[in-house]
Amino acid sequence: DFTKSPEPKGQKVRARTRKAKKLFCCVQKHLASHLHYDFRLELDGVLKSWAVPKGPSLDPSVKRLAMQVEDHPIEYGSFEGVIPEGEYGAGTVMLWDRGEWEPVEDGHADYQQGKLKFVLHGSKLRGRWMLVRTRPRDHQKPQWLLFKERDEEARTTGDILEEEPLSVASGRNMEEIALDRDRVWSSNRNDGV
Ligand code: MN
Repeated sequence: DFTKSPEPKGQKVRARTRKAKKLFCCVQKHLASHLHYDFRLELDGVLKSWAVPKGPSLDPSVKRLAMQVEDHPIEYGSFEGVIPEGEYGAGTVMLWDRGEWEPVEDGHADYQQGKLKFVLHGSKLRGRWMLVRTRPRDHQKPQWLLFKERDEEARTTGDILEEEPLSVASGRNMEEIALDRDRVWSSNRNDGV
């Protein structure tokens, strides 16, 4: 009877439990009015979200503009399909990458301070990354820079966006997702998600 099992006691146990928790991350390729990549990290039960117009780069010298947008629900992170006309974000959404992430140090404090170092365990994006806020937190439209840190996963040649353009979930390209219409997201209702 799991309901009767005792709570773990002591700071050490709690710290270990917290550290072991897997945090979800994903990148959704989103063809709305403009093509962009939505970079999402689970934190405090929501997906912290950034719209990255040029998408992530594995080259540590390439720092990509990442415009912070509103938090999204966790369940949206597994969505791939079509958002109908008239809805927020109307267009085609591909689940381009997904996996887990972990902060290098204190994810909460680093996020608040606008200098978040983290490790990605995705299918396409891996290794150490960084998000640095370049506009104050209370700014109407907070801006960050997303970039790869130097490690064995970094690369200075090629473009991962072109080399691996297909969905990590279905293997489809944007056109196939747009035509299939097997899944439609609505703020009021969502099918098959
Ligand atoms: Mn978007």
